[in-house]
Amino acid sequence: MNEVFLERMKNMLQDEFDDYLKALDDPMHKGLRINTLKWDAQSFKDSGLCSWKETPLSDHIFEIPEDVKLGKTVEHHQGLFYLQEVSACSAVEILNPLPGDFVLDLCAAPGGKSTQIAMKLNHQGLLITNEIDAQRAQVLLSNCERCGISNAIITNSAPEILCPQLVGCMDKVLVDAPCSGEGMFRKHSKAMDDWSEAHVKACAQRQKRIVDQAVTVLKPGGIMVYSTCTYSVEENEEVIDYLLQTYPDLELMPTTTQFGRPGYDVGLCDGSKVRRIFLMDGGEGHFVAKLRKKQGTFKELKRIKSNQPHKSVNIFLKDQLSSIPLNVYMVKEKVYLADAFYDLGKVRVLRQGILAGEIIKERFEPHQHFYSSAFLRPYFLKITSCSHDEMVRYMQGEVLTHPAPKGYIGLVWNEHIIGFGKSDGQTIKNKLPKGLRQR
Ligand code: SAM
Repeated sequence: MNEVFLERMKNMLQDEFDDYLKALDDPMHKGLRINTLKWDAQSFKDSGLCSWKETPLSDHIFEIPEDVKLGKTVEHHQGLFYLQEVSACSAVEILNPLPGDFVLDLCAAPGGKSTQIAMKLNHQGLLITNEIDAQRAQVLLSNCERCGISNAIITNSAPEILCPQLVGCMDKVLVDAPCSGEGMFRKHSKAMDDWSEAHVKACAQRQKRIVDQAVTVLKPGGIMVYSTCTYSVEENEEVIDYLLQTYPDLELMPTTTQFGRPGYDVGLCDGSKVRRIFLMDGGEGHFVAKLRKKQGTFKELKRIKSNQPHKSVNIFLKDQLSSIPLNVYMVKEKVYLADAFYDLGKVRVLRQGILAGEIIKERFEPHQHFYSSAFLRPYFLKITSCSHDEMVRYMQGEVLTHPAPKGYIGLVWNEHIIGFGKSDGQTIKNKLPKGLRQR
């Protein structure tokens, strides 16, 4: 490990430095968070997927053994859980989004914290989840789809483009900032290779630029949580000190969690109010601080009216759903379902609500997101259960010989939707997107 980094850790941890060195050789703290939009903790415990340990964070967040690999299981594909390191789950627990809140997740890919926020919103309110990097934004999109999220706008813009559209509109904002990743050294060796004191300083500069934008979107009384997966004081307490010095209408709030330990006093940052999780505390490494905007101006996000969809859309929706619980909005050939649609100006919007499908040559072709949506699940009229063997063949992209009503049909395995196909009465043509097939 980098000598300068170790020296800094020694200065920071003092008597506990040896504990830190020892903990580096312990197994990694791997976590599994139940997606409560689709599943519950008891069903996970009964599933026999793996052994687990409770965590102090929540009764649906578990520590699982380091050698367990669940990323290719059907349950993962169905979006029943999200694999997320335990200390990384702490930021959203502290943010505490409530159903109905408008929440911005400004640095969101691959989506661990966004899917956790959406779970807490329970389909009510709005999540704007943003990722600056185009490739990583696609991963965020696919994780949101898999987890069946219906009330999110997924964007791919710089904070300087997005935040001016949201000034005074949000109840809560999460800044899980890009950082030097000192808590990720065991997971990603690249974080270790990239480490230098200069990099730490550059990250701190970037973090200050990001929080400068984030603070503007808060309503009066709004909450901002700032988190990183790094240990350096420059990227943690010093950023909080910067915020408090620069914006007197912000106040630091206690984090009210037992997980981890207090941080350090730095300028206006009161260490007893922020939270640090070191390897020795039961997580890979995280910093979390919570701030409240005492005053400011409140604004409403600008809404867009729903528009008249193509006639084939209504025919499809009536065929598939017992009633249509959301509004329909068309952007070019694509058809979206959501409670409300918003105008975000020049922001690059990848998704608003549920992508129901698109019009191709005057015909409506549904999308996987429609069938994976947890919100629409109780409204589905056309679903059929398949056997274990059929489920395996479906996941491999095969056609199924399975009697079912004609037309598009959702396929269920073990009570949860795995995808959809098109039935001619006797066989079901596989419509699972190629990228999701298992070979
Ligand atoms: N919150 C995510 C999760 O829980 O899955 C992890 C976010 S990761 C720590 C930080 C993200 O910030 C990265 O995806 C990175 O691409 C993005 N990022 C990099 N530079 C940025 C910038 N200038 N503004 C906003 N986000 C940035």
